[in-house]
Amino acid sequence: MSAPPEPAPPELAQRVLREQVAAVHANAPAAYLADLLTAQALGIGLFVATRRWQVLLWMALHLALTLRRAYRRYQRSPDAADHPEYWARFNARNVLLRSCVWGLAPWLCIPAGQHSVLWAMLIVMMMGWCAGGALSLAVLKRNIPRFIVPSMASLTAALAWRGDSTHLFLAVGCLLYMGVIITFALQHHRLLTASLTMRFEKEALAEQLSRQIAATQRASEEKTRFLAAASHDLRQPLHAIALFGAVLEKELQGREEERHAARLMDAVGALGQSLDTLLDISRLDAGVVAPQIQPVALNPLFLALNHVFAAQAADRDLQLRLRATPCWVLSDPQLLQRLLSNLVDNALKYTPRGGVVVAARARGQQVWIDVRDTGIGITGEHLGRIFEEFYQVGNPGRDRAQGLGIGLSIVQRLTRLLAHPLQVRSLPGRGSRFRLVLTAVSAPGAIAPAAPPDNTLPLPRRVLVIDDETAIRQAVSDLLQAHGVAVEAVAGEAEAEAVLAQSAAQAAQGASPVEALLCDVRLADGADGLAAAQRLRARFGLPVLLITGETAPRRLQQVHDSGLRVLFKPVAGDALLQALAALPR
Ligand code: ADP
Repeated sequence: MSAPPEPAPPELAQRVLREQVAAVHANAPAAYLADLLTAQALGIGLFVATRRWQVLLWMALHLALTLRRAYRRYQRSPDAADHPEYWARFNARNVLLRSCVWGLAPWLCIPAGQHSVLWAMLIVMMMGWCAGGALSLAVLKRNIPRFIVPSMASLTAALAWRGDSTHLFLAVGCLLYMGVIITFALQHHRLLTASLTMRFEKEALAEQLSRQIAATQRASEEKTRFLAAASHDLRQPLHAIALFGAVLEKELQGREEERHAARLMDAVGALGQSLDTLLDISRLDAGVVAPQIQPVALNPLFLALNHVFAAQAADRDLQLRLRATPCWVLSDPQLLQRLLSNLVDNALKYTPRGGVVVAARARGQQVWIDVRDTGIGITGEHLGRIFEEFYQVGNPGRDRAQGLGIGLSIVQRLTRLLAHPLQVRSLPGRGSRFRLVLTAVSAPGAIAPAAPPDNTLPLPRRVLVIDDETAIRQAVSDLLQAHGVAVEAVAGEAEAEAVLAQSAAQAAQGASPVEALLCDVRLADGADGLAAAQRLRARFGLPVLLITGETAPRRLQQVHDSGLRVLFKPVAGDALLQALAALPR
């Protein structure tokens, strides 16, 4: 036996009732018309056969009742959606009256004596009327007894009243019929109510889900904004430290204190790397990373990974094997290397004993790259969450040496960007396997090696720096001057314009002009450094190098769209010099 259904909560029950009333209302015109035609046809048939005035009385009663209902429906019009209970009662009263009028038919329309044909006519018509009406009215439970019982009980009683065995037999038949119809109508009602309740429950769930999705999206946007603000504020001083450090390193060259400067620069580098990881996430979210999909040979990529990670593996007494492979795949070589680096880095980090194997296998049109380790593995409960940002297993103290919990979220974004599905399997205590699925390509003909970066380009002789922070202006000036570059450093666009106008005038008299503009993207009081740089570039025709600590996706997108060369803070001294030298002049 199935358990009785749980009662619906009041709000849900009200919605269900509203829907049921609406269904009854929608059916009402057709139902009343059918009822009227059936009654009048029956009345005409019986009148022709009996010529009794009582038949006409019954027909008139039925007609009056139908007209009364139509009139009251027309007269009272509180909105059915707002007053479902009122309309359910209205409907139940009408149903009851109708059934009572039908219940009068056997008493008024059939004369005393044996009239089998008339009885047969009446019984067939009333049973058909009852079956059709019961199903259409069963939407509302209270209608079922009101509709069936008065008419059918009256028919049964009228038959039994005749007293002879034939009529008694027919009376029992009518009684049984009434029972069966009531049972069917109740079942039908339960089914309709259950499906309505289910529909509303599903709608409520969908609504709740969409609210939750919106809340998650808002939280994610807030997180991005927070990260962008925090990252920007940290990058500013770090950028100055990196540049001062570079000056210090140059000044201390060949002296004993040089090693202190080197250590300082290592620490700055590590901090910069952490910030870069956050920046990577922002850039991937901003959609400014455009993959350059091309045929990529995996073997050189594996060799490069080996080169990067061999020392780390050896330090920790782990075996690192990157199996030689002839496979080529369709991917972006740099992004693929970044993706695999994160996987290998994790594999080494979470493997206390044994080792890590990276192997590629051709599988039809695909190539699988497996990064397998014999490490601590990941339990099922964590496996679904390791790709979330800042999610770490077993680092409650958030020890930075154990990572930021962001490596795999970068991996996930990269796999989506490159359309390389990633599968993970892991057994706690036995190790993990991360499998990347790529599209195979056949090896193209010999490819010309890429030209090595040119480190021998000369620096511009005179540079204009726009940055609202005094410390940074000072640090950049010191660094550039230490490399023989003349520097003018200003805080905003107006001063920059004045310097450039003066420089143009001096150049006309043979002095060396400003050859490059180094501009911060965010200036004092919210001034837009990007727009300022674009205006100055358009007016004075200067090459521009932007420097930014911005990580907000929208801003990054604007910087990217400007097409200008950009460096992200903190910028190492060497990188700044190289980028300046590489500016088109
Ligand atoms: P983290 O900086 O902590 O390494 P990740 O996003 O790279 O951040 O990884 C998230 C978590 O997934 C890690 O804290 C670690 O518990 C788990 N994890 C990732 N790779 C492995 C692996 N190869 N073996 C075991 N656990 C792993």
